[in-house]
Amino acid sequence: MFEFKYLQAKSVSEAAAFIAANPDAKLLAGGMTLIPTLKQRLAQPSHLVDIGGLPELRGIEVKDGKLVIGAATRHHEVAASAVVGQALPALAYLAGQIGDPQVRNRGTIGGSVANNDPAADYPAAVLALGATVVTTRREIAADDFFQGMFSTALEEGEIVVRLLFPLPRRAAYVKFPHPASGYAMTGVFVADTKTGLRVAVTGAGPGVFRWSDAESALAKQLNPAVLDGLAVAADDMNEDIHATREYRANLVRVMAKRALQKLLES
Ligand SMILES: Cc1cc2nc3c(=O)[nH]c(=O)nc-3n(C[C@H](O)[C@H](O)[C@H](O)COP(=O)(O)OP(=O)(O)OC[C@H]3O[C@@H](n4cnc5c(N)ncnc54)[C@H](O)[C@@H]3O)c2cc1C
Repeated sequence: MFEFKYLQAKSVSEAAAFIAANPDAKLLAGGMTLIPTLKQRLAQPSHLVDIGGLPELRGIEVKDGKLVIGAATRHHEVAASAVVGQALPALAYLAGQIGDPQVRNRGTIGGSVANNDPAADYPAAVLALGATVVTTRREIAADDFFQGMFSTALEEGEIVVRLLFPLPRRAAYVKFPHPASGYAMTGVFVADTKTGLRVAVTGAGPGVFRWSDAESALAKQLNPAVLDGLAVAADDMNEDIHATREYRANLVRVMAKRALQKLLES
């Protein structure tokens, strides 16, 4: 048995100050990842600092041409939002595919990107759309934020405050979900952005990544058939009881083709 203290933060600055003064404390948002981790004794924090209900971390709006989503906004709120549905329907769709209703009603977008599970859905959208992660200390470009399995550019005590999504011309997400958890065995988010077509893959490798060969080929010819001649290296993919490396490598191409087809039909 281990004990921890629970603190309901009254503001982001209070949470940040507390975490800075107590390095063994952990932020709690939706708890959908952290609580199972505590149950398995994989983490034993001194305090849980609950930021899940803070109004300054919630909310969805379009501002200065970007979709702005507060870090503690829950997956269900993103999925059901008329603002997201209008501005970035592929993101609303993605949020609606996460886990099950309980997970979507508790889990938050900030918790998901901070955790950076290699099979999580949001990182694919954040990376493909070239979003910006705004924290209590700075703004971090998506290309610099995700750094491999459960690893991000976040420093000790740094809190994700909101995400800024530049609006693409069009975008689409397709995943092959694990039948029990809903996590992506492989998910591909494609976005037609101001800087070109971006393709981000989650679930297949040790962390979310951009499939640059596909991006280059599609820049020359925007046709799903172009992907037939391309493959990611199976050696770089994950292997577990659910799927071999080779299977996941094949899924990347299949999901990318489907996502592109969906984008072209949108
Ligand atoms: C059964 C099940 C199925 C799931 N299926 C899917 C799925 O299909 N797709 C998917 O993407 N995810 C899935 N998830 C994960 C879910 O989306 C979680 O919501 C998400 O991974 C973590 O978000 P949270 O708000 O619950 O974070 P928490 O569990 O509260 O926190 C997770 C970690 O992030 C840190 N953290 C939280 N908020 C912040 C912040 N604002 N700034 C800095 N650090 C922060 C915490 O300290 C902790 O280390 C599933 C989870 C479960 C239990």
